[in-house]
Amino acid sequence: MMECGKRQVAVIGGGASGLAAAVAAARCGAETTLYEAMTRPGRKLLITGNGRCNLCNKRAGDGGVYAGMNGTDAAELAASVFARFSADKICAFFEEIGVAVRAEGDLLYPRSGQASTVLAALLKEAERLHVKLKYNVRIRSLRRDESSGRWEIGTDGWTYTADAVVLASGSKAAPETGSDGSGYALAEEAGHHVTRLEPALTGFIIEDPQLRLASGARTKARVRLVPGLAEAADADPAEAAGAVPAGRGRTVSEEIRETVYAEEDGELQWADDGISGIAVFQLSRIAAHLPEGTPLRLAIDLVPDLTEEELTASLRLMAAHMGEDAQLRQLCAAFTHERVARYIEEISGAPDKMFAASDKTSAAPVETTGLSAGISAAPAETPGAPDKASTAARLLKHLSFPIAGTRGFDRAQTTAGGIFVSEVEPDTLRSRVAEDLYLAGEILDVDGPCGGFNLAWAWASGYLAGSAAARSI
Ligand SMILES: Cc1cc2nc3c(=O)[nH]c(=O)nc-3n(C[C@H](O)[C@H](O)[C@H](O)COP(=O)(O)OP(=O)(O)OC[C@H]3O[C@@H](n4cnc5c(N)ncnc54)[C@H](O)[C@@H]3O)c2cc1C
Repeated sequence: MMECGKRQVAVIGGGASGLAAAVAAARCGAETTLYEAMTRPGRKLLITGNGRCNLCNKRAGDGGVYAGMNGTDAAELAASVFARFSADKICAFFEEIGVAVRAEGDLLYPRSGQASTVLAALLKEAERLHVKLKYNVRIRSLRRDESSGRWEIGTDGWTYTADAVVLASGSKAAPETGSDGSGYALAEEAGHHVTRLEPALTGFIIEDPQLRLASGARTKARVRLVPGLAEAADADPAEAAGAVPAGRGRTVSEEIRETVYAEEDGELQWADDGISGIAVFQLSRIAAHLPEGTPLRLAIDLVPDLTEEELTASLRLMAAHMGEDAQLRQLCAAFTHERVARYIEEISGAPDKMFAASDKTSAAPVETTGLSAGISAAPAETPGAPDKASTAARLLKHLSFPIAGTRGFDRAQTTAGGIFVSEVEPDTLRSRVAEDLYLAGEILDVDGPCGGFNLAWAWASGYLAGSAAARSI
């Protein structure tokens, strides 16, 4: 173990990574000061996991779940950091400072079920180690005086100095918690570069006036992130116009239509203007890493545990029992939330009477609304029209929504993108472009999925950067 130095370390940001960095630096004997822009530290930490704080994930250590805007570097950096401060070490650290940890599968939580326990324990440990905690201090400038070899840390009315700085000012996600993105400018002032930044772990905006019918519903579903139809049409305008290309087994747009960028099972939360929930959050992160402007759709299977044939058979039994009074909405409501069933009935484009007595017919799909592309619904009197049960089954399994956007940084849990990870040493998080500068947490181009991975990254990177800053390694 290297000997700890006696240095002045300044930590910018009193969030998860900054608090871990301050504790680590102080444990290594550095005279440590933490600067936090808000009147209180850890504002974001307090709202994590709906106030329960999913503080780590047992699988964080393999690094592979992490991604960056800039290729595979992020996963490699995460693996290097977790090799030095693993998920087990994170748990041991918290147990040591008074936070008992409980596992729910791979997800780790404080046993108290309260994020406030985690914050209180970190602050108590920082105080025990005599870390100077300065709140309501937003850092505006960061430059190193080459003659003295010290960092000058400017606020609105004062300049502080330090031997080493840990920049742990977070990202642009949830700016009301204090992480307003100002840390990127500080990093750039020190010579760093920042990738494209996108909100991640957030909901999708869906522009469909009829969606209000489903608003407030929560449903289990399988969701897929797939290319938008615009992309399919762009890829093959002739096919989009109806022409069948000769001599080709599959067209470009068919290939695109079969592409699934990502798939998740989980609960969906339906709102007037969009769809969210953890499964959608995970997809939004994948979307954030796709090239800017990629047209995307959200494909929803509301009954993933049954095949379309099984579902149709089950619905036919119900329809037969209900007789001619059977409504599409009633059938759908047997398998999903009543509000979503109402929405489905509305977009099916076919009033109940059109389906009367058509239960024995079955037919090829007929295109309906743009919002439900690939979904069939046709009046009963149309020869070969699908029966009510098969229409319900198709709708329940093949809803498809063009994604108009995301809920943005205000409602994002994390930011995809950040400072290029090639600009830090993977074993210490020391800057490669500025002396005695260390970077930790979400400000770096490393992001993980929901499930405790982002806090795990904040603790591990913060602890590593803080102890390295104190030791000047
Ligand atoms: C609603 C929500 C729920 C979440 N739930 C979970 C979860 O359960 N599990 C999980 O793993 N992750 C979760 N996350 C993500 C996780 O909270 C973040 O990844 C993590 O907090 C990032 O830590 P950080 O220290 O890098 O940044 P932050 O926690 O954002 O801290 C940065 C701090 O720096 C301060 N600051 C910024 N600029 C300056 C400046 N110029 N001068 C001084 N101070 C400055 C800010 O005020 C802030 O306090 C959630 C996020 C949100 C928004």
